[in-house]
Parts: sequence; structure tokens; C-alpha cells
Amino acid sequence: MFTFATVFTVTKQEHQIQTMKRISLLISAFLLFLGNLHAQMMPQFPTIPNDTETRVGKLDNGLTYYLRHNEKPEHVADFYIAQRVGSLQEDDSQRGLAHFLEHMAFNGSRHFNGNGIIDFTRGLGVAFGKDLNAYTSIEQTVYRICNVPTQRQTALDSCLLILSDWSNGLSLLPEEIDKERGVIHGEWAMRNNAIQRLVERNLPQLFPGSKYGERLPIGLMAVVDSFQPQTLRAYYEKWYHPEHQAIIVIGDIDVDHTEKTIKELFGGIKAHDNAAHVEPVAVPDNDNMICIIDKDKEMQYTMLELDMKSDPMPREMRNTQFAYLFNYMTSMTCSMFNERMNELVREPDCPFLQLVMNYAPYIGVTTMKDAMTVECVPKEGKEKEALAAAVRELRRIKAYGFTAGEFLRAKENIMSQKEKAYSNRNKRKNDEFYGACLANYLNGNAMPDADTDYKQWQTISQMIPLEAINQMCAQAVSIDEDKNLVLICFAQEKDGAQYLTEADAKKVIADARAEKVEAWVDNAKDEPLIAEMPKAGKVVKEKKNDTFGYTELTLSNGARVCLKKTDFKDDEIILQGWAPGGSWQYGAADYSNLKIFENVVSTYGMGNFSNSELQKALAGKQCRLSIGLGNRYNNVNGNTTPKDAETLMQLLYLTFTAPQKDEKTYATLMNTLETVLKNRDLQPETAISDSLTKYLTCDNERFKQLQVSDLKNISADRCLEITREQFSDVSDYVFTIIGNFEEAEMQRLVCQYIGALPSKKNGKKNTADMRTLFSGDIQCDFDRKMETPKPYVALYFKGEAAHTLRNRILASFAGEVLQMQLLKEVREDAGAAYNIGASAYLDTEPEKSFALLRIGAPISTPEKVDTALLLIDKCVADMVRQADTDMVEKVRANLLKQADINARRNNTWQGIIETWYIYGLDVCTDYKKIVSEVTPEEVSAFLRDNILKYDNKLKVVMRPAK
Ligand SMILES: [Zn+2]
Repeated sequence: MFTFATVFTVTKQEHQIQTMKRISLLISAFLLFLGNLHAQMMPQFPTIPNDTETRVGKLDNGLTYYLRHNEKPEHVADFYIAQRVGSLQEDDSQRGLAHFLEHMAFNGSRHFNGNGIIDFTRGLGVAFGKDLNAYTSIEQTVYRICNVPTQRQTALDSCLLILSDWSNGLSLLPEEIDKERGVIHGEWAMRNNAIQRLVERNLPQLFPGSKYGERLPIGLMAVVDSFQPQTLRAYYEKWYHPEHQAIIVIGDIDVDHTEKTIKELFGGIKAHDNAAHVEPVAVPDNDNMICIIDKDKEMQYTMLELDMKSDPMPREMRNTQFAYLFNYMTSMTCSMFNERMNELVREPDCPFLQLVMNYAPYIGVTTMKDAMTVECVPKEGKEKEALAAAVRELRRIKAYGFTAGEFLRAKENIMSQKEKAYSNRNKRKNDEFYGACLANYLNGNAMPDADTDYKQWQTISQMIPLEAINQMCAQAVSIDEDKNLVLICFAQEKDGAQYLTEADAKKVIADARAEKVEAWVDNAKDEPLIAEMPKAGKVVKEKKNDTFGYTELTLSNGARVCLKKTDFKDDEIILQGWAPGGSWQYGAADYSNLKIFENVVSTYGMGNFSNSELQKALAGKQCRLSIGLGNRYNNVNGNTTPKDAETLMQLLYLTFTAPQKDEKTYATLMNTLETVLKNRDLQPETAISDSLTKYLTCDNERFKQLQVSDLKNISADRCLEITREQFSDVSDYVFTIIGNFEEAEMQRLVCQYIGALPSKKNGKKNTADMRTLFSGDIQCDFDRKMETPKPYVALYFKGEAAHTLRNRILASFAGEVLQMQLLKEVREDAGAAYNIGASAYLDTEPEKSFALLRIGAPISTPEKVDTALLLIDKCVADMVRQADTDMVEKVRANLLKQADINARRNNTWQGIIETWYIYGLDVCTDYKKIVSEVTPEEVSAFLRDNILKYDNKLKVVMRPAK
């Protein structure tokens, strides 16, 4: 539910979670265990060789580079520069400046004035925020220019020039700095939610005696608002130099040429006189338990966390087989523990809603300590019982380990993921290589080729028995000691609440440690998903569609199945299905059931299997299947690998023929919903989205978000009834199956399972359009109490446009050009928002085709709300007069490039085929032709004649209450 990771990474634009999964555990216990088995296991830990397809080099000045030629996707390349420094290197007068500096990298440098980098890369079709971006965390700062078209070598050389400007050529002009202060302030406000405030306030106690406790990347606004330019420059000169930098370039590149250019551009760079080396910052052990208990009014629910700190793996071992062993054993432990908790949580008297274990850097930030962590969301008022349960379950694995069944399932799950990845080894995308290069540079992790990697996993999974993992748990789960134990309780603050105290927590833990625990009993069904094979259907008609390259099979029961074999990914098959139906058939009595329908369906069992038995039976299978109700259509969504295609078909068969209520799992869902919904209004963002929904849909109850008061109207029986009404007659369904499969074998599966589904041939019709969208001029300007002032503005404009491909494309242009204009004027020039979004689209119900324009932005400070609103109106008016020619070109470049990338994705083809069936619209054949033809005049005309002319404007503004 919650994760700390977001608090520790801030970005140039848009939110980004940095996921760097690393291995950890009580390393000493682990080594001890290995020592015991040393003789029969392995004499030493061999070093894992790097993948020779990636060229790694180092210049004399210390700059490292990673270069790899890769053609997935074709004709594009990704450029990165990683710095081994972050907010940890700031001194007290610089708190927040590592991140500020990262923003300044886009505001002027040696070869690119002002927003020149943003403008130049947009000209290549690179979207700012998505493909051009950066992030700052405590120990690292990484910049990127991704999806750069490779047709022109000079464009690629210019990207390297940008990297070199970032490395040592930032202008850091005082007037640009002043403009950026508001943007950062806006980012701070946007991120300042309950969890951010709680972490910020308690970080020093989580890292007593360590600088880590005082270096949240977003920093101090007192510093951001008033620092002198020289203070920023001092950080830049001291820490940004070649020894702390790596260039990573992956894609359709000439590696030799790239290497030569890097040598020319970077070879002459010398560290500044004030340059310093990164020194490790210690995170001391704690002898007594660290106990952090705090609360916030905007917390939606209380969360508890137990961390058992340990020393991380020494850097010199991270590229050895030892790292694989360690990773395997910790992954297995987490996987087995989490499956167990997933079962426990279904028991009616379980005191928590969620209990999850992971191994990661302590608090997600430091490479100096790891932690085995359990995160817990207690049921309301059950904090003590939940804490006791967490301690009890940790002690249970310490005393008894895991069972053979748990072990086998976890192993199958882990190895089937590895196998899936390995099967796609020749189709890996650029970004899949980036993570390995970055981890190799920053942490010294191994960077092997796919064969070596997979072989290591196979060897280790065969070598490590359950007893070894249980023995490790016995030693490594240190829940019985106070040393290096950390307890965090972040509570929801409200009148009359009882909070856990430190004394309570200590007593609960002491009592739980004194309890006697018993071994876990594993219940799993050992029988096939489908006991008796159904009678297969037949293909009665086969028709090829040459435009989109698929074959449509009509089956004896009336179902139609479109097969499209592709070679985009070797490990992917996607399945979708739809039929007329949908939620609009049902009236007010079912609104609550409909709003939660998909969640309720996910609690079902199938055939003879309860929900948890089904999950266990699917161990080692890579397949997902879900069903849902759109407005006017029923939907089926699935994905799998070639190996598990039959299992996916079996799930589909069972969904249509044997869905079963599972009371325990359903009750767990209701408990979770109650906790989450009860306090949903605490977050200010909810007020904005509720107001928007209310006015957009003319206060129609059907579209209102689910409230806690709706829960009493939900019925598991009724949801099952709806499921049977909508998903039992396959005759109206059309399915698409796209990906890597053998056609004959897939036809056999289709006949065996889809062909065997019941058919009533009711010939269901779609319901009419049930929506009423707002019209006229609606304004809602309201105040709301909030812990941190976070004003927000949102605008909608509604018009009409025929549902044609050209109009769809014009809408994309209109939205994207407007967004560029708004980013320039509202964000970059006025510093009034950290981010501002605009998009235009056709609402695609065929009877009435609306054109909608949507603009939304969190505003930096309350004082800037009116400025932002004026600027938005001005940008819209300017664009109606004349869309910026240069921006239209940039959007065109991006759409054309993206079209080529998308053409090699299975999901794209699914969308194309579905749109063809539902609307009779070909959104593929002429797409690039129309994108190439669009003129600025047409974009302006679309905005004017298809949207603004109708004078339907909805404006919602939220301001902080005084
Ligand atoms: Zn930022």
C-alpha cells in the first residue's frame, strides 16, 4: 500500500519511483551457514563475467562508459549520465541543492541557452518529462535522453554534447535560478503528503548519528527560496567530475563512433580545483530498539513496520556467485513468507489487512545498511494485535522455517519468471540493459549475459535445498533481539483515537517473544484445474484480414477468435475479449456492485478450487486473467507466455463456466475497502477528483466514486449473478490472441477451451449512451483545509467532433501543443507550477462523439493560482489564433517516432483490431500519412471549431482554507 521509496527520489518532472532491487540479509549469519556446508557446496565464489556485448571503458580522468548496440526497438537510442553523488553530499547550507542543480541542467548550459536542451530534443521527437528527464536521490543523480531517433548521426552526437554540458557546462545563471525556485517549491508542495511529512520529521531518529537522517533530496524550502547562486555552484564544482560519472548509451548506435566521440568530448575534462571524493557515510548499529511513533491528519490508515538492520554485502562480492546465492535465498524467503501471509489475512480474526516482507536497503535509501523488513497495515484499533502477529510470524519461520509445498511453489514461481525473461533474451529492449549498467557502475553488481545469468539461477535453484533456507532463517531472523531492531508506527490522527505508545509496543513485543509458536500447516490441492476435459468445439469459418494481418476463426458456438502471430516478444501472448453488455444494463440498485465488480470477481475461486487454492495451483505459471464491465461492453483481459498458454485457456474456460464465491477472500476485500474508504476524504486530492466527477457527469450517482456508506449495498451473491449473466454465453464474444505462438497449436487450444464454452445465442444489444456530460459555463472555486497548502486548478472544455482518425489525430496534436505552451509559460517562465498537463481526445461512444480538452495542474503557492489561470486562458486563446508552427513540428516528430515503436508492440495491434470491430474505424493504415499532413492551421481550427466554439467550460479550483 504505502512505500517509502517515493519520498527519497525527486525528479525534474513528473513522479518517478526509483526501483533498484538489491540483495540483503544478515550477512554474517548467511556466511556462517555457508561455512557449515562449505565442503559439499562450492570451494569459492567465482566472479561472474560481464556481458561482452556491452562495451565498458574508462577514460584517464576516471569517466566510465557503457555502450551497447541493440535494435529493439529499431532506430532509436537511449543516453544517460549517472552521477555517483546526490543529496548526501550537500553541506548544511545546501540542503535541497543537489535536486535544484538537477533542475538547472535544463535551464541553460554551454551549448544550449535557456530551455535550449528541451527545445532541441523536442525537435528530434523526444518528449520532455517522458523521454527527457532526470532524478535525484540521496546517493545518485541520473539524467536521461531516451528514444532518440538514430537516423542522423549528428543528432546522436548532439545528445552526447548535452551529456557533456550536464557533466561540466551548466550556466547556473542567477535569473534562471530565481525562476526555478517557484517550480521546486511547487514540487515540494505536490509531494508534501502525510507520508512525506512523517518521514521528513522522523528521518533523524531513523538514522541516529548519521548524515542520512538529514538529507531528504527535496531539502529545505528555506534554502531553496533564498540560497546564493555561488552556493549551488560550489556543490556542482565539488561533486560533478569524471570520477563520479558514467555515460550509458544503448540502442541502434555505432559503438566505435560513439566511443570515439565520448573520448573527444569528455577526455579533456578535468576535475575542478575544489573537487572532492565521495566518502562513505556510516549508518551505525543501534543497541536498543529504535521506536518511531508519530501521526498525521491526512494518513488514510495506520501503518506499522519492523526493520531488522544488517550490514550489506561487501562491494567486492557483488559480482560473484555469492550474490546470486544470496539473492536466491532472500527472494525465496520473502516469496514463501508473503504467500503465507496472503493466506493468513483471509482468516476472519486476523488483526491485519496486509503483512509483507522484503529485503532491501534500510528505509530504501542507504547502501550502508540493509534490512529485512515487514510492513503491516493493521485493522483499525488492532495495532497491538497486528504487531504481535508480525512478531509471531517472524518467530514461526525462525523456529520452523517453511514447508516442502511452500518451497516448491516459491521455486517454481521464481524460476518461471527467470525462464520467461530468458526466452525473450534476443528481444530485450534498450531499457532492460540500462538497469544492469547502472547497478554495475553504482553498486558493482554483476552484469552477465543472458546465458550466464540463467545458468546461474538454474544451478543455484537446484543446489539449495529447503533445509538450507530454513537454517538461514533460524539464524538471520533476529526478531528476538533489540539490537538493530527498528519499529515504525505512522498513525492516522483523529479525534478520540487511541494511539500505540512506545511502552505498549515494547510490552507487545516482549509478550510475543515469550509465546510458544507452532509449525505452519500448508494446505494445497494436488489436482488438475479442470477434472474432465470439456467437449471441444470446431472452427466453422476461417477468414483472413490482410490489412491488419490476422485470421478470424468462427467457432461452432458462435464465438469469434482473431489470431495474430507476431515476433515482437518471444515470451508474450496477450488475450482480449469483448461482447455487447456492460454496466449500463444495470440500474441504480446495482451501482455499488458495479463500482466494485472487478475487485469482487478477483476474490472468486474456480471449479473445485478456493481463491487461495487456485493461487497455489498456479505456482510457476505465468498467466493472468481478469474480467470486467465497461460501459457498454464486457471485457476479458489476459496475458501469458507460450509455455503457459494452455493454463490461460483453462482459466478462461473456468471463468465462464465455474466461478465460485469465496467468502473468506471476499470478507478480506470488504475489510480492506472499509479501512481505505473510511478515510478517503482526508487527502486534499480527493476533493478535486470528486468535484470534477460531480460536475463532469452532472452529478450522476452512477459515476460517483465508491464511498464507505455504499459498502452495505454490495452483495457477493449479486456480483456472482451478474458475472453469470454476462460471462456465460460466449456466442457474442470476439477474442484477439496476439503474440508468439504456433498457429496450429493455438487453434487446437481455441477449439478445446473457447470452442467448448456454452452458447445461448441471445444476441445481446448494447444499451444506449447513459451519460450526460456537463454543458454551459460551470465554475467551482472552493477552499479546503490542508496540512500543506496545495492549490489545484482543473479545466475541461467540451465540443463535438465526428469519430474519425483525422479528428483523433488532431485532438492529440491540440493537447500536446497546448501542453508544451503551458509548460513554457506557466512552469518555466512564471514558476507557477511544477507540472501542468493538457490533453484532448474524442470520447468514443459512437452515437455521440464528444471532443474534450482537459487541463490540470498543482499550483506552486496559493498566491500563484490566479496568475496560472490567466496564463492558461492566454495560452488557449493564443493557440486558437495560431498554433505554434515549431511546436506542431515537434509533436509531429514525436508521434511519428512513437508510431514506429508502437507498431512492434502486441498491445498496439490489440487496440487496432478492437477499434476496427467496435467502431469500424481503421486507425492504422493512414495514421502516419495524416500525422505528416497536419498543419498548424488545422490544429487551431480543431481547437476552435470542435471544442471551444461550443462554450462548454468547466473550471474547478481548490485553494487552501485559511
Ligand atoms: Zn524535481
